[in-house]
Amino acid sequence: MTPRVRIPVELPSAKPLLPADPDSLFGMAVEAVNGACDIVKAPEYVRAILGQPKNELMVNFPVRRDDGSYEIFKGYRIQHNNILGPYKGGIRYHPEVSLDDVKALALWMTMKCALMRLPFGGAKGGVKVNTRDLSSNELMRLTRRFTSALGNHIGPDHDIPAPDVGTNAQIMDWMMDTYINTHTDGAHQGMVHVVTGKSVGCGGSEGREKATGQGICYVLSELLPEVNLKMSKLRFSLLGFGNVGAFTARALSAEGAKLIAAMDHAAALVNPDGLPIEELHQHVIDHGSLAGFKSAGTREVSPEEFYRTPTDVFIPAALERMIDEQKANWLDCRMVAEGGNGPTTPRGAEVLQRRGIVVLPAILCNAGGVTVSYLEWVQNKMGVHWDLQRVDHELHRTIVLAARRVRVAAHRYEVDLSRAAFGVAVEHLTDTYLRRGIFP
Ligand code: GLU
Repeated sequence: MTPRVRIPVELPSAKPLLPADPDSLFGMAVEAVNGACDIVKAPEYVRAILGQPKNELMVNFPVRRDDGSYEIFKGYRIQHNNILGPYKGGIRYHPEVSLDDVKALALWMTMKCALMRLPFGGAKGGVKVNTRDLSSNELMRLTRRFTSALGNHIGPDHDIPAPDVGTNAQIMDWMMDTYINTHTDGAHQGMVHVVTGKSVGCGGSEGREKATGQGICYVLSELLPEVNLKMSKLRFSLLGFGNVGAFTARALSAEGAKLIAAMDHAAALVNPDGLPIEELHQHVIDHGSLAGFKSAGTREVSPEEFYRTPTDVFIPAALERMIDEQKANWLDCRMVAEGGNGPTTPRGAEVLQRRGIVVLPAILCNAGGVTVSYLEWVQNKMGVHWDLQRVDHELHRTIVLAARRVRVAAHRYEVDLSRAAFGVAVEHLTDTYLRRGIFP
C-alpha cells in the first residue's frame, strides 16, 4: 500500500515572526523570502524552514598581539540551509559584524546558490575586528585561531568558506592551511577545497578575484534592454571602490561604459567625461581610499551631490543598508544594480519602486563570486586547473541562464525583477524539498 502523505500541520507558525527591530537585516531577508513564498505558493513548511538558519555558531577566541598581550575576538558561522548541497559563503572581517547581519547574509547565500543552480546551500561567517588595527602576523594568528575554533563545523563537503568584505585570497590560503594541519590523518591532506577564493598558487581559480565584477557586467549585458539601455553608451556610478567596485568598473569600461561618479568611505568624485579607472584603482591601492585623487575634469563633491548625479545605472558595491529612503529619493538613475549584499533598506526599496527605478537584486547581480568559487571547488575536486577563458565561459553561461530565469519569472508572476529572483530561488528549493521529503 502507498503510504499516505501527511501535511506537517504541527509546524509552529505559518510566517516566522519578524524580529522587532525594523532595521534588522535578517528581518529584511526573511521578508523577501516570505514574499517569494507567496508568489510561488511554497508549502508552509518550506517557508518555516527557510525562516531560520539551521545552525548558529558563535566562538570567542584569544589572539596574541605583537606586543605580547592577548585580545579576545568574537567570530560567527551561520549555516542557513543545506538542502541543495554543502553550506557555502564568505567570511567577513569587519568591526560591525553582528549575529543578525551574518544570519541575513547566510540566508541570501541560500537564495543566491539556489537561483544560480549551484549545488550548494547557504552560510556566512565573520569576525568582529578592524583589520586596520592588526599587523599581518596578527591577522594570520587571528585567522588560524578562528579556523581552528570552527573545527569540524567546516569541511570540503560540509561547509566551504570564501572571501567577503575585509578578507582576501591570503586569508583563504591561511584558512585552508590551518584546516589541513589540524586534520592530520592522510585523508585530509588534499582537501584544499575546504575553502575557495584561494590564491592561484594554493589551488585558487583563474578569474576568482574579478568574478563578482565580471558577473555584474554579464548580468547588465543581459538585462539592460529591459530599460532600453545600451552597454556601449552606458553611464554608471559606483558606491564603494573595493574589490567588487574596482573590478566592476574595469569590466564595464571594457564594454564601452563610462564611470561618471564614485564614492567610498573617504571621498566622492564626479567626472562627466568618465573617471580614469586604472589610475583610480592604483590610487586606492597606494593610499587606501579615493581621498586626494586628482585628474583632469574630476571634481570632489559632497555625498548628496554624488547620489544626485544623473547616471543610467547606480551600483552600490559597499556595505548593507546604504540606500535608505532619503538616498533613494536623491538617486537620478534608471536602474540600481546591487553589487554588494543588502544595500537597499525596505523603505529605500519602496521609494525606488514608486519612482520606477528598476532594481537588479544582489542574489543575481553579485553571484559571480560564488559561481567562480563553485568552479574552483570543482577544479580542486577533479585535480585540474582551467584557463581564464574556460572559467569566464562557464561564469557567463551560468549568469546569463539565471538572468533569463529571472526575466521569465518576472513576466510569469507579474512582479519586479527583485521579487522574481527570490521567487525562482524558492521555487527550486521547494522542488527539492518536495522530492527529498523531510527526514525521517
Ligand atoms: N562572499 C561572496 C558572496 O557574498 C562569495 C561567497 C563564496 O564565494 O562562497 O557571494
